[in-house]
Amino acid sequence: MHKRVLIDMVKLRELESCKMEAIDRHVLHSKSFKTIRELATFYFTCRRCEEAPCISVCPADALEKDENGMISRALNLCIRCKSCISICPFGTIMNDLFATKTNGYHYFDLTDDTELIQFANAFDDDIVKIVEFDEKPEEHIYRLTDRVLIRDVYWEVR
Ligand code: SF4
Ligand code: SF4
Repeated sequence: MHKRVLIDMVKLRELESCKMEAIDRHVLHSKSFKTIRELATFYFTCRRCEEAPCISVCPADALEKDENGMISRALNLCIRCKSCISICPFGTIMNDLFATKTNGYHYFDLTDDTELIQFANAFDDDIVKIVEFDEKPEEHIYRLTDRVLIRDVYWEVR
């Protein structure tokens, strides 16, 4: 079985000064460069509102919904006004998605074995660790990609 990385999203989002981000170059939902953090947020935390207020409020038409109701943000259009943060009734969109990526930021591509291990080693085990199991919904651990498991509070009961 593949090595996978298990990311505790609740704990990761609490690390305000974290200068490391994970990406997955092969993620299907991505039309442009997207972080695992953003993908997981829209996949697991977003309630996929039918009349999504985040889309209506966006002055830059940067948010759109796919055929599964999943929101994605066009990074080339987003002007970081944060109106979507204010209007989301569920607190899905938070400041961490808009953190300024200044010098010293390091991006790890989790499709690469070496970078996957380096990313895990950069955090305490209770936040990110390498595992060899698959998703465990009963423990709130869900598969985001073939190589990435996320522990989060999934809004949808499965
Ligand atoms: S308003 Fe919030 S919960 Fe609703 S679709 Fe937008 S991000 Fe998701
Ligand atoms: S920060 Fe502003 S421009 Fe960017 S997605 Fe949210 S509402 Fe749209």
